[in-house]
Amino acid sequence: MKEKDLQNFMNKLLKEKRRLEGELKAFALDLAENQAAWSGEHSYENHLADLGTDTAMRETDVSFEYNVRDLLNRVNDALARIDDGTYGLCKVCGKPIPVERLRAIPWADLCIEDKRKEEMGP
Ligand SMILES: [Zn+2]
Repeated sequence: MKEKDLQNFMNKLLKEKRRLEGELKAFALDLAENQAAWSGEHSYENHLADLGTDTAMRETDVSFEYNVRDLLNRVNDALARIDDGTYGLCKVCGKPIPVERLRAIPWADLCIEDKRKEEMGP
């Protein structure tokens, strides 16, 4: 891969990393606020009445947080691969991942063929 391309992907990944970390921070603040409001304002009766919607909301929050963390891990992995010089190579077969694919998904670690196999399952 050309040095210039690599630099480009690294910038993209670093930007994405900052964005995701910002989201996680905002999420943590939100959660703290919700919990403060929860213990302060809600009487026991309200608590029971609201429980249904609140549980549903929390589940959405958790899967959102999970997705952000998962993506952040991928981005960090990709940055580590830039460091050790294996960035842009398929984790399974070791062939170079096409640059167009990396442009779409800079943290991709599988070539299209192996990605398809992974999605189909063992
Ligand atoms: Zn492969």
